[in-house]
Amino acid sequence: VPASPGRARLHSSSLRRQVRTFRVKMVLLGSSGVGKSTLALRFSKEELRSTSPTVGCAYLTQVVHLDDVTLRFEIWDTAGQEKYHSVTPIYYRGAHVALLVYDISKRETFIRAQVWLKELEKQYTPGSTVIGLVGNKGDLAGKRQVSVQDGRDLATEKGLFFMETSALSGHQVKELLIGIAHRVNTTIGEQPG
Ligand code: GDP
Repeated sequence: VPASPGRARLHSSSLRRQVRTFRVKMVLLGSSGVGKSTLALRFSKEELRSTSPTVGCAYLTQVVHLDDVTLRFEIWDTAGQEKYHSVTPIYYRGAHVALLVYDISKRETFIRAQVWLKELEKQYTPGSTVIGLVGNKGDLAGKRQVSVQDGRDLATEKGLFFMETSALSGHQVKELLIGIAHRVNTTIGEQPG
């Protein structure tokens, strides 16, 4: 019985290279106005080899291809819950990645990011979730209230991935997502089984 063309294609591509695909839930946390929604939109629009951004009811998606693994990011935005200074744990439950976003031109948002971090640390086993610290609005250098070193020091102390971005211009947005993807890949590799 001849195989259907669809099957044949599937078979030959899986022989060519073993590419595993993982679903990665990524949540954005941080004060209102730091640029979370803008960043989420940027993530889904940047061209990362093969993309098909879709607006779901709750999250945006972006696919990142690394050497031997494909990561399908589901990017969750708080939808303004942080205005009430709390976000339901359902929002970040099961998240593989949490991005703590602050605005480099507003010191209080950096302080607030550290409060979020404490909250996250209560929920997560160290090493199982990738946490990124993101200094957004890097284009507002003239109004800077948080130095690059401040961000870097906090990240080093807490073992976080760190990057400054501009969601407005797109500067370093792609690099951030790819950097996070590599960290996720390492974390997956360290999981038992
Ligand atoms: P959210 O409340 O954290 O989701 O923040 P938004 O994404 O709604 O952004 C709040 C405001 O900041 C909007 O007016 C954005 O256009 C602006 N914004 C977002 N990212 C940047 C950035 O990187 N640079 C500058 N200058 N403005 C930004």
